[in-house]
Amino acid sequence: MKDLAFDLKDIEVFKIPDPKTRLNILQKYFFPRLEILMDSALSLVQEVYEINPYENTSSSYRPRHRQSAKVNIDRWGDVYLGISGKRKPGINTTIKNKHGKPYSYYYGNLAFRLAFRINSDGCMYTELFGCDFNARHNIKFLEDVKHVFDENHQALQALMMLNHVSFSSSLQFVSFQKWIDQKVEELVSEDENLNIGFYSDLCYFPLEFDRGLKRLNLAFVAIYPVFEVIRCLQQGQVLDEVNEIMMNMLSRYESWVHSGGYHNAFYGNTYLDDVSSEAEDYASYDLELDNYAFTRAGLWWDVLARDKWTCRSCGRSTRVDGITLHVDHILPRSQGGMDQISNLQTLCAKCNLGKSNRDTTDLRSVLPEKD
Ligand SMILES: [Zn+2]
Repeated sequence: MKDLAFDLKDIEVFKIPDPKTRLNILQKYFFPRLEILMDSALSLVQEVYEINPYENTSSSYRPRHRQSAKVNIDRWGDVYLGISGKRKPGINTTIKNKHGKPYSYYYGNLAFRLAFRINSDGCMYTELFGCDFNARHNIKFLEDVKHVFDENHQALQALMMLNHVSFSSSLQFVSFQKWIDQKVEELVSEDENLNIGFYSDLCYFPLEFDRGLKRLNLAFVAIYPVFEVIRCLQQGQVLDEVNEIMMNMLSRYESWVHSGGYHNAFYGNTYLDDVSSEAEDYASYDLELDNYAFTRAGLWWDVLARDKWTCRSCGRSTRVDGITLHVDHILPRSQGGMDQISNLQTLCAKCNLGKSNRDTTDLRSVLPEKD
């Protein structure tokens, strides 16, 4: 996984003119790498949620081209590999809910997928795409999905924000919260199919594990609870149970974050070893911040004028001694010192360097006023 990479030259495959050759090569070229990425994401799903994501799911991919196909259609011009809800025997396109009413789908079991998707411009992202819910026939289903999102919206939004995941509904220009709040009848109109999507940030080739792929993996893990909710409802599980599943997954995710799992997945363990040296770096950065350059220009001038262009420590001046003057924070900013004239004093470079960040002596009170 660490060696997995997508290069800019990989985009060239999308430009092969002959459709049959292009579709065959797109599969051979991208699928093996996408499989590695997906296996890695699914094992992280297992770790975080303590469930087996291979159960009840099947693979979903594009192009679905077969080598022997007579007609070669590349309708979408993209590539994806992911998972979708498993087709259950006997309830291929019609699944009953607890009231015995069927959930039906425009595209049967292709109604939704959680996948890694590559567009021909070398853009890759993680997406949950719920396509063409024939809304008029699935109002109960949509209500159930919205109900579960609503019950868990705070944890869900925190998880989305942490992972830069955004929501969109193709026919509705609404926020996630508004989409949840609106009645299904208001969301859908006659003859329209409703799309919903959860998308990671876009990552552009070249991509490596530490440069993009790791984020896509974490976005996959973050969107997984949404996938699971839709899958369970689609496969006919009772609403209360599905809501329970969502709550459990979100609370497992939260524990994973709090126990440092997310941190490790993002930074790796090497970062944790470096924490002490990082803290030292930070302390020296505070010293830099106390430099006069960070005092507002007008204020800087006022301080120098008040102190008559003279170092408050040694009494030397620019005019007579040709020294460089600094405006110093008496109480350093790193200790909460304010950028106010009462907390500022003029020091020459030498005296300023001799005054450590921990020394908060106001030298104006030590030295006699000089006129
Ligand atoms: Zn001085």
